[in-house]
Amino acid sequence: MSINTVNSNLVKDAGHINGQWRQADSGATISVYNPATGELLGRVPDMGVDETRAAIDAASQALAGWSALNPKERARLLRRWFDLIIEHKEELARLMTLEQGKPLFETRGEVLYGASYIEWYAEEGKRAYGKLFAAPTADRRTLSIQQPIGVVAAITPWNFPNAMITRKIAPALAAGCTIVVKPSEETPFSALALMALAEQAGIPAGVINMITSSRAADVGQALTGDSRVRKLSFTGSTRVGKLLYGQSADTVKKLSLELGGNAPFIVFDDANLEAAVAGALASKFRNAGQTCVCANRILVQDGIYDAFMARFKEEVEKFVVGNGLEEGTTMGPVINRAAIDKIAAMVDRAQSQGARLLTGGQRHPAGELFFTPTILTGVTQDMEIAQQEIFGPVAPVIRFRDDAEAIAIANDTPYGLAAYFYTESHARIWKVAEALEYGMIGINEGIISNEAAPFGGVKESGLGREGSAQGLEDYMETKYLCMGGI
Ligand code: ADP
Repeated sequence: MSINTVNSNLVKDAGHINGQWRQADSGATISVYNPATGELLGRVPDMGVDETRAAIDAASQALAGWSALNPKERARLLRRWFDLIIEHKEELARLMTLEQGKPLFETRGEVLYGASYIEWYAEEGKRAYGKLFAAPTADRRTLSIQQPIGVVAAITPWNFPNAMITRKIAPALAAGCTIVVKPSEETPFSALALMALAEQAGIPAGVINMITSSRAADVGQALTGDSRVRKLSFTGSTRVGKLLYGQSADTVKKLSLELGGNAPFIVFDDANLEAAVAGALASKFRNAGQTCVCANRILVQDGIYDAFMARFKEEVEKFVVGNGLEEGTTMGPVINRAAIDKIAAMVDRAQSQGARLLTGGQRHPAGELFFTPTILTGVTQDMEIAQQEIFGPVAPVIRFRDDAEAIAIANDTPYGLAAYFYTESHARIWKVAEALEYGMIGINEGIISNEAAPFGGVKESGLGREGSAQGLEDYMETKYLCMGGI
């Protein structure tokens, strides 16, 4: 199935600057492929520094008008955008499966999840309250107001081609900011389709600008080096996040960084077995293991180990691997050749370091970018596979004796994004939740993200939170007013 099967009003082969659909000044393009079939889906412009500057110019010019709107007026436009996304959800889901690979049931879910941020921030934007403080003397009054931070930049990854964009644009626009977005070069069509619907919704020219580029480093430099850009919101690898953090120092930008993870998924002896198996499947194998909150290490306690492994293996072997557009597929391909080669090499090295294959372990015959769902046992915390983010459908299992050992293993990583554990004990729930050095904890739950909750990490997994009221605050500055002579 080709991209022509998707409504042509949503398939855009141009970037968007100041209300105009534009090609690259150089005429260069990026080819976008379907990871399930290798088929060329289409081309988008390969823009560079000049187009990025033009986008920042446009966002700067649009800022005064957009930030001056009443929050209710911004909310109305955001709400219209949300409604259009819901109206076109099936096409957006198909487009996403075509360029990203995950099955339709997952892309449908992502479109709804992504849209939920727009709906939620349309409302929350009305609640950016200031504060009144106790004044130090009788003739003064002291207060603070909340104002939009200004022009913001967003750089987003391919694993959630829709939601990682709405999660940034929605709070930015609700706060009164304007934005320049650089989506991943692997999945630009989903981003451009959102842009087309934003335009249809009546969001004014220059408020959202979109740059497609394969020269991410150049665009990144242009965005971080420009003092008009007051905030950068980045979701992607820890390596690139650190680079952008450094590049932002010169202009002292505010940063939201949502970087890599190394999530532990801990199954204690007193866990509900079926719930733990279901949670592990969802947390580990969703999006073929390509999410930053995916379980990266499965820790299982001695007493439940045999029962858990038997049921987990049985369920993992039920995955239907194939083209995400086909009915019944439950796992799609990984994103590209570099990804599959990395996953295969990690699995090989884990075995050479002593891990044993319980199931899977090789590439899958469905196509070049498919990997068979895999379980590795006998994994220890010192192995590479336990230390690094796998980003693929591979579950390394570590066996442990007691709570202290599980917590020590879980925290033995520079990452701190999501962690999960299963237990029926109330006391353990509190103690373990407090001891885990992570920004988000799933307790008897494998899927935890939603628009009303603060998503984000600690340690080298990032800065700031997306979603919830905190996600709006991250796009605003507090201004203190001290009034004398009263
Ligand atoms: P992933 O491994 O998930 O692709 P990346 O961090 O490489 O993670 O990519 C996330 C986003 O960051 C993408 O939009 C990508 O184009 C962009 N990116 C990659 N390298 C840089 C860079 N040096 N500067 C700015 N953005 C970059």
